[in-house]
Amino acid sequence: MNELKQEVGLQASYRFECEIPRQPGDDTVVFAEPAKVEAVLTSTGDSILADVSAKATAGLRCGRCLEAFDLPVKTQFRVEFREGADSQADENEVVRYSGDYIDLSDEVRQNIMVLLPIKPLCDEACKGLCPRCGANLNTRQCACDSSLQDVRWSVLERLGAGRKDQGSES
Ligand SMILES: [Zn+2]
Ligand SMILES: [Zn+2]
Repeated sequence: MNELKQEVGLQASYRFECEIPRQPGDDTVVFAEPAKVEAVLTSTGDSILADVSAKATAGLRCGRCLEAFDLPVKTQFRVEFREGADSQADENEVVRYSGDYIDLSDEVRQNIMVLLPIKPLCDEACKGLCPRCGANLNTRQCACDSSLQDVRWSVLERLGAGRKDQGSES
């Protein structure tokens, strides 16, 4: 991507794929396929503007029912590449480069990772797992007393073993 450097106003567009590796220590997010990226690079004379759009499918795990599900994500962003070393005066969107190539893959990864929910849900209405028997309540209704939703209660009940727990709450 170096042919743009000298000629002001020159544009070139690129399509490429960008692998998104697993984050170290995080096995809850998996990108089975690389992100698909389209970038339009414009030379401004002393920098290169990159207008990037990228899409990918994140494989996540629901925080309630623990089922795996796919979340399509897409992002659009602009970065400015300037040659040379980092400068205090650089704004956030400025990335320094040296040599003949700019590398968009870090920017693509960062812009996709920030889209991922901290607590992923397969569905806003996900019913989660039964705190007592572990059944996935989205797929079946278990026979447990649904008035006891909090897992801490079932632990307390187990501590008080022997006590009859078929409560008569109604
Ligand atoms: Zn779920
Ligand atoms: Zn249950």
